[in-house]
Amino acid sequence: MTKDNQLITGKVLRVTRKTYDVSVGGEVVRCVVRGTLTLEDNEYCSVRAGDNVRIVMVSDGEGVIQEILPRRSRLSRVIESREYKEHIIATNIDQIMIITSTHKPAFKSGLLDRYLIIAEKNHLNALICINKIDLANKKDFQIYVEEYGKLGYGAFYSSALTGEGVDGIRDMLTNKVTLFVGHSGVGKSSLINAVEPEVDTEIQEVSSKTNKGLHTTSFVQLLRLSFGGFAGDTPGIRELGLWDIFKTDLKSYYVEFHQYTNDCQFVDCKHINEPGCAVKRAVESGTIFNERYRNYLNIYSSLKSAHYE
Ligand code: GDP
Ligand code: ZN
Repeated sequence: MTKDNQLITGKVLRVTRKTYDVSVGGEVVRCVVRGTLTLEDNEYCSVRAGDNVRIVMVSDGEGVIQEILPRRSRLSRVIESREYKEHIIATNIDQIMIITSTHKPAFKSGLLDRYLIIAEKNHLNALICINKIDLANKKDFQIYVEEYGKLGYGAFYSSALTGEGVDGIRDMLTNKVTLFVGHSGVGKSSLINAVEPEVDTEIQEVSSKTNKGLHTTSFVQLLRLSFGGFAGDTPGIRELGLWDIFKTDLKSYYVEFHQYTNDCQFVDCKHINEPGCAVKRAVESGTIFNERYRNYLNIYSSLKSAHYE
């Protein structure tokens, strides 16, 4: 593949306790880290799924990571402790694809909003896929396509069963790094299989190179897509510990509130029961989607007040 000691660039697909699967031109190289890696001003930096790295091959299929290249985005959570501590789950993500389903399990905009909050908190683009459209009447879901579309989140229908929307998804994934999120059973793996039929064999390839019982530490595993780009399936936001949202911050993750906040009577208006609230006026006049606002109230009352309470 290369001369000895020559640095080659690859992308980390998977992190286990001691090893890293790095995709290099379609091959998976099992890598280790020796010594300490640093990144920009960080004194010490752990390698994460999605990292672009420079490696040296030590034998066929095995290498050593020498360098982490600068990260352009990250998905992370705050570990609750006395000090603010960030735990990065994956890096260099271009977009998250939120998968919902019309039925089985039933569509709930409140769950969708929770994923959008995670996307906003991490400054990641979000796309909304309404899967299992074969089980539903489109007119019942058109309101969501319109309302979320107005907020700038591309929303569309799909069916892994009939193939509707699958070509569109493939286009959206091409040459991007995409994380699929969504509750169990909505069709994440079916859709990944529909866009990339080779995915099954690739998963086997990655796991055959993996010793059984080796612990994955990040839960995010990327797959290289044959048409360009990478996609990863994830467990839920709770499993990833991403639901580290606090009452005080919640309103900042609602893009449609921003234009009204200067018009609220109180500068620190929470848009709940304060007098002279411009957000509530916009909800009453129908400019802000009522269902999103109701979800906001529900989510707000479920959250903790502040960090480290
Ligand atoms: P995941 O847990 O999100 O990965 O969901 P799966 O891909 O495992 O799908 C859960 C179930 O829903 C399976 O029985 C799939 O066959 C079914 N399913 C997935 N997509 C569709 C779809 O578009 N329409 C219908 N009718 N069933 C689907
Ligand atoms: Zn207000």
